[in-house]
Amino acid sequence: MNIHEHQAKAVLKEFGVAVPRGFAVYSPDEALKAAKDLAKDTGTKVFVVKSQIHAGGRGKGKFEGLGADAKGGVRVVFSPEDVKSNADEMLGRVLVTHQTGPAGKQVNRLYIEEGADIAKELYLSLLVDRVSSRVSVVASTEGGMDIEDVAHNTPEKIHTFTIDPATGVFPTHGRTLAKALGLKGDVAKQGAKLLGQLYAAFNAKDMDMLEINPLIITGDDKLIVLDAKVSFDSNSLFRHPDIFALRDETEEDQKEIEASKYDLSYIALDGEIGCMVNGAGLAMATLDIIKLYGSEPANFLDVGGGATTEKVTAAFKIITSDPKVKGILVNIFGGIMKCDIIAEGVIAAVKEVGLKVPLVVRLEGTNVELGKKIINESGLNVIAANDLADAAAKIVKAVKG
Ligand code: ADP
Ligand code: MG
Repeated sequence: MNIHEHQAKAVLKEFGVAVPRGFAVYSPDEALKAAKDLAKDTGTKVFVVKSQIHAGGRGKGKFEGLGADAKGGVRVVFSPEDVKSNADEMLGRVLVTHQTGPAGKQVNRLYIEEGADIAKELYLSLLVDRVSSRVSVVASTEGGMDIEDVAHNTPEKIHTFTIDPATGVFPTHGRTLAKALGLKGDVAKQGAKLLGQLYAAFNAKDMDMLEINPLIITGDDKLIVLDAKVSFDSNSLFRHPDIFALRDETEEDQKEIEASKYDLSYIALDGEIGCMVNGAGLAMATLDIIKLYGSEPANFLDVGGGATTEKVTAAFKIITSDPKVKGILVNIFGGIMKCDIIAEGVIAAVKEVGLKVPLVVRLEGTNVELGKKIINESGLNVIAANDLADAAAKIVKAVKG
């Protein structure tokens, strides 16, 4: 689960992390009030109006309908009145960044933050490293930029080390971090302290990623977290009601929310072929083979081992509700599940939700002959396939003509 920047900063603040002061707002009037309050509390004359969407690259993002010269999704302004007019322009508008995809995301809330005096922008992130089974720290002096670009163009500027869960953060980690980021004197001390705080937050809240880009050194040598992107392990949310309460469903794909109600593992993708598969491995293989045959999958969907007619129907509805879907591929391996049950489920689902696009069904495993017979005799316009390759070829042909 992802949260907004302002929420991430509030969580980090609980662990003592230094962040600028700010207020989340939903209207231009609230933005004006927030700016006035900030000016009163901190004496700041510089305000930053930050779009809150679950995607990075906001600063360099472009708002739809504002033209190429308009300012991006993070704006530095110098009066409460300008905070208000910018908020007015930004709220309700769609922001497109390199992380949102071309469709962009609508900005429904803003974070009004005091402006920081930036002397240097750095990069620091913590993530779960599955190879070492540890939390891995990634640090770079090249902050404020796309870390993927830094990794690609100047990999020597990215430093990584891991923290042993049995011992946690040691002073040596602080020194390693200082060296990686070029921190000296008191700033190096602040870095070591920050690392301890971030690691504590990461563990306590079951984060699976914590990215600070940029971490800044101010003109008066303070280390401050200026941006924070955090995601949590969804399997642990049951023990973090405070974190779960931060969920913003408007940021999530409606189809994914619907799928989660039926315990379906569903992830929306950008392609044109809807997929209904049982088993995560088979689902991955199905996505691969669709690509191999020259098309793109519209989703990942694992209906699970005990798929009932109800589940299959729900899955079908979700797939067909996606306007991008030009064809559907059902690929089921009947193991514990019997193929005839699946065939009946598919037919019941098609009868209920209708079918406006080609449907290819590939069944294999227990009771496969009976399953095929049921499909063939259903009278529905279903294309039967014999194996995975045949299924992929048939659905791609049906969609592409
Ligand atoms: P994103 O990564 O989504 O573009 P950031 O929060 O990193 O959003 O903001 C982009 C840039 O805007 C930062 O690299 C920094 O230069 C500037 N910025 C962000 N917040 C502030 C702030 N409070 N004060 C001054 N500059 C800021
Ligand atoms: Mg950033």
